[in-house]
Amino acid sequence: MSTPDVVIVGGGIGGLSTAFALSRSGLKVRVLEQAKEFGEVGAGIQLAPNCTRMLDDYGLLEEAKARGVVPDRMVMRDAVDGSDLTSLDLRDLERKYGFPYLVIHRSDLHGLFLDACREAGVELLTEQRVTAYSQEGDKATATTDAGTVHEGAVVIAADGLHSVARKLVVDDQPVSSAYVAYRGTVPIAEVGRPVDLSEVVVYVGPRCHFVHYGLRGGDLLNQVAVFESPKALAGLEDWGTPDEFDTAFAGTCDAVQQGLPHMWRDKWWRMYDRDPITTWVDGRIALLGDAAHPPLQYMAQGAIMAIEDGWVLAEHVKRLRGDGGAVDWAGALAAYEAVRPEHCRRVLLTARAWGELWHLDGVEREQRNVLLRARKVDDCSFTDWIYGPTALFPEDEPTMFQPIPLVSADGLASDLADSLPR
Ligand SMILES: Cc1cc2nc3c(=O)[nH]c(=O)nc-3n(C[C@H](O)[C@H](O)[C@H](O)COP(=O)(O)OP(=O)(O)OC[C@H]3O[C@@H](n4cnc5c(N)ncnc54)[C@H](O)[C@@H]3O)c2cc1C
Repeated sequence: MSTPDVVIVGGGIGGLSTAFALSRSGLKVRVLEQAKEFGEVGAGIQLAPNCTRMLDDYGLLEEAKARGVVPDRMVMRDAVDGSDLTSLDLRDLERKYGFPYLVIHRSDLHGLFLDACREAGVELLTEQRVTAYSQEGDKATATTDAGTVHEGAVVIAADGLHSVARKLVVDDQPVSSAYVAYRGTVPIAEVGRPVDLSEVVVYVGPRCHFVHYGLRGGDLLNQVAVFESPKALAGLEDWGTPDEFDTAFAGTCDAVQQGLPHMWRDKWWRMYDRDPITTWVDGRIALLGDAAHPPLQYMAQGAIMAIEDGWVLAEHVKRLRGDGGAVDWAGALAAYEAVRPEHCRRVLLTARAWGELWHLDGVEREQRNVLLRARKVDDCSFTDWIYGPTALFPEDEPTMFQPIPLVSADGLASDLADSLPR
């Protein structure tokens, strides 16, 4: 094996999309994956315009659309009474941001990047579990548990939530949210109820929520059911189990109840994130994707942020590549670290707050519902900061939305009551 320019640790969506992006810039890239085979979980993923813009740049958007579904509308409903709270017209969104909102099977998206990497000549190695990193001068290495040393000008660690490399820049731990996700993909013929596949639907309820949308041109329905585990709150080890799942959704509306029997009950995903960090680069070793910024999933931006990371890094590599082909790596990594952590910090913190809003109970749930119902459907002030073009430089990062305090619903509620016919 000849020495690559870049060694990428982790062959998830972050690692593979970055490998493809860098190989497009003319670099020799090697990906090291610990598993026996490259692969992803058999469930769905949502890709907002800030991601499909990049898929388009990579020449992969049409294939992604062919493998996925481009829905017309995203609707948020109350999980208790099933009523509509607010919605986004996804076709308007596409007109506004220039690129579609797409839902796709994870293995289809992952497979798209895997095929693209193969065609681009990326070296793809499995059963390479990296346990150590080192660097000297203008070289960095990743060493596997079998003692194989992989050297490159740069090592990118895209090794996920439990990243080994993250310890190079911070001594922290994943933060448990005490929430757990159940997933299930069902052939549409077996769903047993009418489902409008032109919609992405999220039902938000007290300490739980339920999401569904179509996949594979409408052949499959993807469902995600998430709830807070009392056992996790009590500090028990064995949390998120099916008995808790059944109890958590007991008070939800018929539409949610009808979806629950289709969830997988033999595996579940406990939801962790980490506090945002601003240092992602240690000399010639850089974090990327969940290794740098694992979020709670409420913004549906985790994989997107990973794809953006790779795109931004590759753009800076292109910009800082000399005529002879040599890359100013110190400059490229500094530019990457100057812009990405702040964006991802915003997404991580917003995801936490968004999750809290979804799961409110009692008066706060009613206040939330009043505010969501009062939102104008064409108001993009909550999406501009995230669905617009990905910033390459800190000064391009858009300003954030202004949060609306829950108590401001009280005035709105009485205005609403006054306007009702008596
Ligand atoms: C329920 C749920 C729903 C979600 N929905 C969305 C959504 O709609 N949209 C969205 O954008 N995001 C979503 N996300 C988030 C998204 O799945 C993740 O943020 C994204 O997959 C992270 O990709 P990654 O490549 O950085 O990490 P990972 O997917 O974790 O990949 C890491 C890879 O590195 C490998 N690896 C780990 N350690 C080593 C090692 N030591 N040596 C070698 N290889 C190693 C792993 O085997 C794996 O292949 C969701 C997450 C959840 C849990």
